[in-house]
Amino acid sequence: MLKIGSHVSFSDKGLLNAAREAGEYGSSTFMIYTGAPQNTKRKPMESHYIDEGKQLMAELGIGEIVVHAPYIINLGSYKEDTFRLAVDFLQSEIDRTAYIGVKNIVLHPGAYTDKDSEYGIQRIAEGLNEVLKNTKDVNIALETMAGKGSEIGRSFEELAAIMDKVEHNERLTVCLDTCHVHDAGYDIVNDLDGVLQQFDRLVGLKRLAVVHLNDSKNPRGAGKDRHAPVGAGFIGFQAMQAVVQHESLRHLPFILETPWIGRDDAKSRPMYEAEIALLGETVEQRFGASFLEDTARLAHFFKKQEVDPRQYVLGVWDELKGPDAQATKGKAKDKNKDKREPMERLFDIVEEAGLFADLTEEQINHRITAWFAGVGS
Ligand SMILES: [Zn+2]
Repeated sequence: MLKIGSHVSFSDKGLLNAAREAGEYGSSTFMIYTGAPQNTKRKPMESHYIDEGKQLMAELGIGEIVVHAPYIINLGSYKEDTFRLAVDFLQSEIDRTAYIGVKNIVLHPGAYTDKDSEYGIQRIAEGLNEVLKNTKDVNIALETMAGKGSEIGRSFEELAAIMDKVEHNERLTVCLDTCHVHDAGYDIVNDLDGVLQQFDRLVGLKRLAVVHLNDSKNPRGAGKDRHAPVGAGFIGFQAMQAVVQHESLRHLPFILETPWIGRDDAKSRPMYEAEIALLGETVEQRFGASFLEDTARLAHFFKKQEVDPRQYVLGVWDELKGPDAQATKGKAKDKNKDKREPMERLFDIVEEAGLFADLTEEQINHRITAWFAGVGS
């Protein structure tokens, strides 16, 4: 069975909350940060409802889960205090991960800031050598990065170079992020096999431990790292489905980190439940026959207007790439129709037509997500 889930919250009742939230989306895996990703404040693991969470996971049929290290960790930094904090905090995060019994902690390798990539790779390897020596059991999954700023991990060569410099690298694995590799220039849309062969040659497919499943708001090679909901970006549903079903990948945990959608930021909702059901091919069991009928109606409605999902999505992103288009964010975007993203515009069209008067915004957006996947056409 495929393992598909999303990032979920570990706050309040820790693992119990996380498992409950994952269950609401119909997940078969999930990912947590063991505390706020932007600071080092952590509560003792004993207060995180680990046993209760594990019990609920067993009831839900959730086995393997993943921990993500916080972004404040930068093993690539030349600054002594930043580097020291990164090493020490990564060690304590690994201990916390081991306490839960999780096998892989995902780590952004690091950024070289004012130095160069050669320096960054050397520094990261130095940090990893120390961390691996002082910890046990948990693997560190180096994440493939998009290549924005000075971050290391934008190419398979860089990941291989780090591993080469780490003495006992048996506990180094890789987290492949679909948005990041696409943004870094790898053509997973038209040549997934070729990309994975390249990965195998340089790093080794056996190192792959986690897949982050995100669509991208930017064209291949943009080096940006802006996640889009599945089907609402440049990668598209078909290519994402091919990733999930690939024989070299299908045994891995797939984790969605897709943005929440809603007119009002405070009321925006995740698309995870629809994304998981669509990629896992469990839509009818999960949502029932009426969902399929609704999506067929939606497909018919758009077909009559000659709106093709893929062309529409790519067309809007192209338009938004225009001069100063990216500068507008948050509230201003809601007021300015020209700045609205593909899913937001599609929702506007559906709402204006009064197609689903009884459905919530979230329910309509789930059906738009299904339409991206070709359901009902
Ligand atoms: Zn990440």
